[in-house]
Amino acid sequence: MSRRRFIKNLGLAGAGLAINPLKSKTQPPNLTPPVKNNPLVISTWIHGMEANAGAWEILSNGGNALDAVQKGVAVTENDLNNRSVGLGGRPDRDGHVTLDACIMDHDSRCGAVAFLEEIIHPIDVARAIMDKTPHVMLVGKGAQQWALENGFTKASFQVPVPPVQKDYEEWRIKSEYKTGVNVENHDTIGMLALDANGRMAGACTTSGMAYKIRGRVGDSPIIGAGLFIDGDVGGATATGVGEAMIRTAGSSAVVESMRRGASPEEACYDIVQRILKKHPGVDGMQVGFLAMNMQGETGGYSVYNGFNYALRNKGQNEMIDAKYMRTWE
Ligand code: ASP
Repeated sequence: MSRRRFIKNLGLAGAGLAINPLKSKTQPPNLTPPVKNNPLVISTWIHGMEANAGAWEILSNGGNALDAVQKGVAVTENDLNNRSVGLGGRPDRDGHVTLDACIMDHDSRCGAVAFLEEIIHPIDVARAIMDKTPHVMLVGKGAQQWALENGFTKASFQVPVPPVQKDYEEWRIKSEYKTGVNVENHDTIGMLALDANGRMAGACTTSGMAYKIRGRVGDSPIIGAGLFIDGDVGGATATGVGEAMIRTAGSSAVVESMRRGASPEEACYDIVQRILKKHPGVDGMQVGFLAMNMQGETGGYSVYNGFNYALRNKGQNEMIDAKYMRTWE
C-alpha cells in the first residue's frame, strides 16, 4: 500500500470511530452517587482494630480518607510487636527486614515503595513519593536514598528486633521456606476508607512473607494487585500469598467486578474462585480480599477460614469474619 493511501485509510478509520463510537459494555449507565456524611473504615485482620482507631480520629472529625488511611496503617507499622508489618516484622532468608507499601486516592493518584530497609514508616514514604515526585514507585536502595534526602531517618533500634532475630536464627537451622495458611509468616494490613465527603482512599503495608528470597516483592506495594481504588466504583485490598494477587491483578479485578454490578462480597468471591481455578498451586496457602463500594457496602472472601477484618463507622467498631471456600484445621 502506498504511503498516501495508507494515510488516507487511517483518516477514514479515525473518522469512522468518531461518527460511530463503540458502546462500552463495562460501564453501567448510572453509577450511584457515593454516600456522604457516613464515614467508614475497614482493614484486614485483628490489628485493623487499632489501625481503624487511628484512621477514625481523622474521619470522625471530617478529615479526608487519604490522610485517614495513612495515619491508620502507620499505627500498625509503629507496633514493634507486629511480626508482619513494619520493622518489627520477620526478615528475608538472609536476615534483612524489607518493607513494601502503597497508597491510592479517590482520583487514582498513587504512591508505592518496595524493598525498603531501616525506615519505620514505608506508608509515609509512599505518600511522599505520590505527593512530591512524578513517579508512582521507588524501590530498594534508591527508595531509601530518596527518603533520606526527603526528611526520613533510619530507625535507631536493632532490626530485626531481638525476638525476631532469635526466631530467625532458629529458622536458619533448617532454612525451610513454607508459605502456610497460618498467621506466623504473613498478615499484611490493607485499609479502605470512605470519608464524610464521599471520597475513598486505601493503603497497604507489609514486611512481606517471612524468610522470602532477598529482593522478593509481593503484591502489597503493587497498585492493582494488593490495592486498588476507583473513586467511581470503590476499592479493594488483599492479604496472603502475594504471588497469587499479582498473577491475577487481584484488587483491580475486584473493583472491575464491582463496576459491573457485583457487591463487594461477590466481587471478592469471584477473584478467590478465579485464583483457585487458575492457580492450583495456591493449595494450602491463604489469600483474602476485602472490598468496599462507594455506597459504603463492604465484604471479604478468602480461600481458607480464619480471615477477618475490622470495621468502624459511627455505630460499629467490630471484627467481621469473612466467608471462605475451604476449611483449614
Ligand atoms: N501479601 C503479602 C505478601 O505477599 C503478605 C501478607 O499479606 O501476609 O508479601
